[in-house]
Amino acid sequence: MDCENSTHRYPLRYVACMSYPRSGHHLTVRLLAGYFGEQFRYCQFYDRPAGCCGQFPCTARDVNLTKNHDMDLGQTLGLGLPKLRELPYLVLVRNFLDAAVSDYNLYLREHEDSLETWQSFAQRKLGYYQRFVRKWILLDDDVEKLVVRYEDLTSRPEEWMGRIVGYFAPGEPIVLERIRELVSDALLEDVRPRETTMLYHFGVRNRRRIEDFHHYDPVFFSRLESQLWPELRELGYQPRYAA
Ligand SMILES: [Zn+2]
Repeated sequence: MDCENSTHRYPLRYVACMSYPRSGHHLTVRLLAGYFGEQFRYCQFYDRPAGCCGQFPCTARDVNLTKNHDMDLGQTLGLGLPKLRELPYLVLVRNFLDAAVSDYNLYLREHEDSLETWQSFAQRKLGYYQRFVRKWILLDDDVEKLVVRYEDLTSRPEEWMGRIVGYFAPGEPIVLERIRELVSDALLEDVRPRETTMLYHFGVRNRRRIEDFHHYDPVFFSRLESQLWPELRELGYQPRYAA
């Protein structure tokens, strides 16, 4: 994955990534690191032990991206992280139903599975999703942001990676050929309750179907979708289950 590109010094800026869990954050980071090479620096403060400053925004001068899910919004009264005028934000989101199913697969690593557990998990996450989407996407503010839906990133990866790359290095030419290579060669982390399998050279595409989920139930999904309909519609999603 070495590239001629990494010898070019881009004037990369620092972007704060706010992502709803399971919306393609790691995929985006891998693509950016592939594109910009060693110049791209990621704040690793969530690593244990922390690999960076442990603060938001990142205080390291050469860092280009921080990861945040603004989890505090999971609490009904949580205010979450500050919106800072001087920072450009990259907001990653995905249809709640798919994100919740994917998130639940991770949750099963530390919890027992049951239909009840899944349903209360989904119901709890629904409030978090609502607050996350309202705060970071729907609220009319004058913060600079690029909103990327996972569905767009995985169905039109070249176009959307181009936009993301351009967001980090405004005004710089975008090397489409390089993006094409990275997209077709991308690694997919296949997250399952027991393990994560790395599918190398899988390419950027969405391979999950929620119909394959072991608690799949159109009636329950319809209920979730109806509750979130104002947000999902604003995000441009089509109804799948709600009447
Ligand atoms: Zn940092």
